[in-house]
Amino acid sequence: MRLPLVRVTVLAVLLWAAGCTTTPSAPSTTPPAPHSVVLISVDGLPASALGRGNTPVLDALARDGVRADWMNPSYPALTFPNHFTLVTGLRPDRHGIIHNSMRDETVGGFKVADKAAGADARWWQAEPIWNTAGKAGLRTAIWAWPGNAAPIEGLRPTRWKPYSPEIDSAARADQVAAWMTEPPATRPHLAALYIERVDNVGHEKGPEAPETQAAIREVDAAIGRIVQALDARGLRASTDIVVVSDHGMAPVQPDQYIAIEDMATIEQAEAVSTGQVIGFNPRAGHEASTAQRLLGRHDHYECWRKQDLPARWHYGVHPRVPAIVCQFDEGWNALPAEQLARTPKDRLNRGSHGYDNALPSMRAVFLAAGPSFRRGARLPAFDNVDVYPLLAKLLGVTPARNDGSADVFAPVLTPRTPPAH
Ligand code: AMP
Ligand code: ZN
Ligand code: ZN
Repeated sequence: MRLPLVRVTVLAVLLWAAGCTTTPSAPSTTPPAPHSVVLISVDGLPASALGRGNTPVLDALARDGVRADWMNPSYPALTFPNHFTLVTGLRPDRHGIIHNSMRDETVGGFKVADKAAGADARWWQAEPIWNTAGKAGLRTAIWAWPGNAAPIEGLRPTRWKPYSPEIDSAARADQVAAWMTEPPATRPHLAALYIERVDNVGHEKGPEAPETQAAIREVDAAIGRIVQALDARGLRASTDIVVVSDHGMAPVQPDQYIAIEDMATIEQAEAVSTGQVIGFNPRAGHEASTAQRLLGRHDHYECWRKQDLPARWHYGVHPRVPAIVCQFDEGWNALPAEQLARTPKDRLNRGSHGYDNALPSMRAVFLAAGPSFRRGARLPAFDNVDVYPLLAKLLGVTPARNDGSADVFAPVLTPRTPPAH
């Protein structure tokens, strides 16, 4: 609140210096609201889902602001690696969350559903935007973004909520709306919201199923509650809203499943993960036979030694990446034989991601509206490592070392004055 007064003083001085005889108008009694950023992730929302009648709120935000043709997820196109990339600007190979399921020689095993692992800072090897903002003295409030439960670098968001699937999308949105409409003295400069509903239904029913379309409408309406709350209090002009997804979703047929044990036997290698990106660590004495069996092209997947993975994936240097990585073709998945045997065909997932991040089905959403963004601007596709430096720019803080750049956004940003914190 000090800065507006400084600005008025500067204006007065300038008018005086210009020899202007008009008396500057008295300072407004309601200073402009401090600038805030709201980051929202709709897990598993494909870029192709926009503009099809199911996303009136998101489409209106895109009209009011900026929409990218699509955003490229990082490899692997899975939830935790990409969410941490979005808030750190580092590729998974560099921030340590190299998969949803991984092993580390000293830390042990990591799984998305393992709360203790999620809260263990040793897994999260990069500075998230809430730390960058916090170090600059800004307030943050983070709803269940992967990593928010860990004291990374010994720091926490100012406020944070753990992942709670029982809290529905609308209630989460209401919490974020409540944060963002607090008085300026406590209102977060940065809020983030994670919503998994579209991903969950997309997996179960497939990306084009009516149920998935209904989930998209439901989440769109939930985001609308935040927009409305800001509108009702005249806060849209001081709040940038950035909506992203982590990856898209590809359809899967029930007969497109392979047993992991048919790839390499349990005696040969430990399979570190299941799904679409399967890492194998050969057991001692079985290195040669595992390599012979796995490496190269197979009917529905291809395997590489970690050091030989395609360069465009920027993956394979981190010690947590298993020695051999197998990438499944679009629509195909690997599961443990026992799980395949006990799951009726009609209960197998009909949608998956984790495929080659260059596939159109994996394309993610990026749109943004608010005082920093030009109206109705369109951006060509870019990599999701660029989101963290953008957030830092919107907040007026210096980003940590990262793999992205805010330069791609230069054509769509307004010449907004630096935020008055
Ligand atoms: P996936 O589809 O395998 O990449 O994982 C995404 C799923 O993980 C989401 O649909 C959520 O159900 C779940 N999930 C997301 N965040 C968390 C979390 N912090 N703790 C536990 N599960 C989570
Ligand atoms: Zn996801
Ligand atoms: Zn998913």
